[in-house]
Formats: sequence, structure tokens, C-alpha cells
Amino acid sequence: MLTWVEIDLNAISHNINQIKAKVKAYNAGIMAIIKDNAYSHGAVNVAQTATNTGVNMLGVATVEEAVELRQAGIDHPILIICGILPGQAETVVKHDIAQTVCTLDTCKALSKAAEKCGKKARVHVKIDTGMNRIGVNYQNALDFIKSALAFPALTMEGIMSHYAVAETDRDFTELQLSRFKQTLSQLEDSGIRIPVKHTANSAAILRFPESYFNMVRPGLITYGLYPSKDHYGLDLKPALSFKTKIFYLKELPPGQDISYGRRYTTYKKTLVASIAAGYGHGYSRSLFNKGEVIIRGKRAAVIGTICMDQCLCDVTHIPGVSIGDEVVLIGKQDDQEITADEVAEKMDTISYEVLCRINPKISRIYVK
Ligand SMILES: *Cc1c(COP(=O)(O)O)cnc(C)c1O
Repeated sequence: MLTWVEIDLNAISHNINQIKAKVKAYNAGIMAIIKDNAYSHGAVNVAQTATNTGVNMLGVATVEEAVELRQAGIDHPILIICGILPGQAETVVKHDIAQTVCTLDTCKALSKAAEKCGKKARVHVKIDTGMNRIGVNYQNALDFIKSALAFPALTMEGIMSHYAVAETDRDFTELQLSRFKQTLSQLEDSGIRIPVKHTANSAAILRFPESYFNMVRPGLITYGLYPSKDHYGLDLKPALSFKTKIFYLKELPPGQDISYGRRYTTYKKTLVASIAAGYGHGYSRSLFNKGEVIIRGKRAAVIGTICMDQCLCDVTHIPGVSIGDEVVLIGKQDDQEITADEVAEKMDTISYEVLCRINPKISRIYVK
């Protein structure tokens, strides 16, 4: 195998234990967010590790992701944190999956499906406190919840919201938090009790203990990455490494243009390695002229346009470099490390996208 992703499941358990320690004093449970194939780490393996490490619930984005977990034998509570269409309600109910709701049409469909299956549909109502993505506006939340409670086969298990700028803007996050609390006190005044309350993503877990309520929803920090530069006392370990190998070496004289578009010209006698990483693997074409990799413990520059299944590196300075050498795209080798954050910065994006771009068809190798 030329190109693979290595996942350190011990790092995932370690990170979950760090999160647990952080929220313990507040009696908050943990919903590990494992959407998008667990941020590329592999949903089933991460789900097993997370449940063994004692998380209370798993959060996914789609019905298909939830069903994949059920089919893999994971019977832990699961919440779909995004919306569904009414036509998907029956699959949700059949697999005992909890559903985020913010429309009465979805509530109705879930209740009907539940009646048909002789079950209850478990829902978490999503309150929009300023993100303006999905959710019932906090000012209409009480009315919405009262209407939803009228559906006979719904159980309102949770109430939730989501932050837009938890990593950057304290004032706006506190405004969102106060709007959520306003809804909670209206519910209390009306004698409506919803057991599970959750708002905190990774950034809020790091910065806003007031946002924990009785459950937190860590995504990124589960995988060992930080949403911003400050670590807030958490000691996380990145779980994912992205690796490939050298499969061809050649020496070029100065003045040779290399790869598509002839966008790089050698300026010296250059030893060029072909490595099996291209944009088809999820190694972005935008890393042209910026990307670096680690070979034999040394950094090497990616030179020339990145192709679909390969790219080229200048390895002139690496003694003993050989065909078959391991190449680290993300991860550690000897005392060098390339983080997903470093790659993200070069691509002008965030680490989340760097992870999610890695082609799901590339083999994940799990180490413990
Ligand atoms: C993705 C997501 C999370 C996790 O976000 P991180 O920043 O990765 O911790 C939590 N809640 C919702 C609703 C999400 O969509």
C-alpha cells in the first residue's frame, strides 16, 4: 500500500478523558461528535473507542451515518444533529435514533412513524440563538415546543443550541447563551421539563463552562486538535497521521520545468522524489509551492503542480533517500511534525477541512 491514514485510538481515548476531566465538576455528560466519518478518522472505530471510554451519546450528521453505526452493532444513544426530510422519519425511528427537530412537519412525520412502529420518537429541539443556520428562533421556542409536545408519539428528550463564534467572540457567545437561558426559564415557568440540555462545541468547552448545561458536544478536540491557538489547559494528542511513500527518484539538472503547467523550474541540480499523494487522495492542489512533507526526519518541499495521484518533492538535501521511504504528509517522524493546522494555514482554511478532504477510500490503519 502506497498511501494510508493511521489512526491512534489511544489518542482518542486520551482526548475524551481530558474532556471528561474538564467537564466533570459541572456534571455534564459527553456527546462525541463523529459526523463526516468521525472527521475522517472512521466512524465505527471511533464510535467503539468513544463508547468504551464512557461517552454518553454519539452525534452524527445524517441518517446514513447513524444507520452505519447501528449496522456495525453500536447500540449506544445516537443523535442526528442536522435536519432530515419527513420521508426519512421512519428509518430514524426504526433504528432508535434521536433526531434534532426544528419544524413541525418533521415532528409530525416522526410521531406518525413512531405510532406505526409502536415506539416513541426521541427528539432534541434545536433553538437558534444567533447562528442562523437551523433551529427555531429563541423568541418562538416556547410556542414551538408546546406544539411539538402535542404529537402523541414524540418524547422531547433534549434541547440544544449552537454557537457561531465561540472561538473568537466572547460577547456574542454570551448573548447566544443568555438567549438559550431565556428559553429554558420560559419552559420552567410553563412547567415543561426537557431532560438533556446542550450547546457546547469544542471552542465553548475550552472557553465557556457556563455553556455545558448537562451535556457537551466535542468534535475537533476529540481528535486532538484545538479550535484556536490557546489550549486552555487541555493536553490533547492528534489521532490522525496521513502517510505515503516515495515510488520514483530522479536527478534533474538546473533549468528543468516540472509537472503540469511547468510552474516550477529547478535552479540547481535537484533530486526529485515522486510520492503517491495528490488531490485525489485529498492532498489539496492549493498546496503547490507551499506544501512540505517529512522524509527521513527532514522536511522536504513539494515542488510543481500537485497531480491527481502524485506530486513531486525536492529531496536533494536528504542523505540516503530511497524508493520506498515513508513520507509524512500529516503527523510526526523523528523530531519533525506537520500538523493539520499547519496544512490548513497553507491552504487558507481550517484543520476541519484538511481532515475531511482525505479521501474516505484510503485505508485507515488503527493502532492502539
Ligand atoms: C460539528 C458540530 C459540533 C462539534 O463542533 P467542534 O467545533 O468540532 O467541536 C457540535 N455541535 C454541532 C451542532 C455541530 O454541527
